[in-house]
Amino acid sequence: MKAVVLNEVGAKLSYLDYPDPSPKGSETVITVTACGVCHSDLHVVEGIYPSPLPMIMGHEVVGIHDELGPVMVYPCWGCLKADCWACSSGQEMICPNATEAGLFRNGGYAEKMLIKNKSYLIPLGDLDPLSAAPLACGGLTAYRAVSHTLPNLTKKSRVLVIGAGGLGQFGIQFLKIQSDAKVIATDLSSDKLQRALAVGADEVASPTELDGTFDAIVDFVGAQNTLELMAKLVARQGIAVLVGIFGGKIPFGFGAVPHEARFMTSIWGTQGQLGELLDLANKHELKHSVEAIPLANAQEAHERLIAGTVAGRIALVP
Ligand SMILES: [Zn+2]
Ligand SMILES: [Zn+2]
Repeated sequence: MKAVVLNEVGAKLSYLDYPDPSPKGSETVITVTACGVCHSDLHVVEGIYPSPLPMIMGHEVVGIHDELGPVMVYPCWGCLKADCWACSSGQEMICPNATEAGLFRNGGYAEKMLIKNKSYLIPLGDLDPLSAAPLACGGLTAYRAVSHTLPNLTKKSRVLVIGAGGLGQFGIQFLKIQSDAKVIATDLSSDKLQRALAVGADEVASPTELDGTFDAIVDFVGAQNTLELMAKLVARQGIAVLVGIFGGKIPFGFGAVPHEARFMTSIWGTQGQLGELLDLANKHELKHSVEAIPLANAQEAHERLIAGTVAGRIALVP
């Protein structure tokens, strides 16, 4: 098969002939239809994760399975040991010994992909595979982050979404579909704020224009100044959810944060939540754009992502 391989940290991606996967035991194989390119893939190339190289990247994978037909891959593959609390509670993305497909073992930048177990394949239904691909990571991460806030929200609630890029735009839509709360988006880019309004935000504002407090805040940036904004603007007993990995850090303690406000990080999502998200996407047309790029041009796709010249998301098509 053709595949795109990262041979070493910092190297250019190589498009080459690669041995077909040979499944053993409970493993199975899909023919890849499309694979989204995620910012985490850039981090793999930078060597931020201890990925075993050479490796085929790609964790936003849709494909065709012999028995199941069109499927999406749930990529957070936990250890599945009976005594692992994370795996046994269905939260494989928290498993300390997880080996996520495309990050710690071969993923979907290829014509075929080895799947650890058929149970990781979720039928796509009528969803268009290309536009569905980014739901596996970008969509799922925003879905889980928003889910933490939902129990806090009533008709009177105000929710702040910090960062109106791809994940933030998903977050706005999930909040509007799943709650009656008023959704306010903030970003430094006026283009992104326009996009936030187009996908359903009730109001948009630059960070300096925000006033009042918010019952829930989801920070899709995670920089020093956005974390400080969360600590300042979250209401007493509100919830602040951090998704973005820009590396900011804030002090915690009485006087540093509002009384009884809860602060948490949110990482990727469960397989159950990915199933819920695909149901939601089947019922509501999500507004996001995906540009198809041939698998052979994976290096170009990475360079465009780094240069910031991608309007929505990119998916590689074998
Ligand atoms: Zn585990
Ligand atoms: Zn990702």
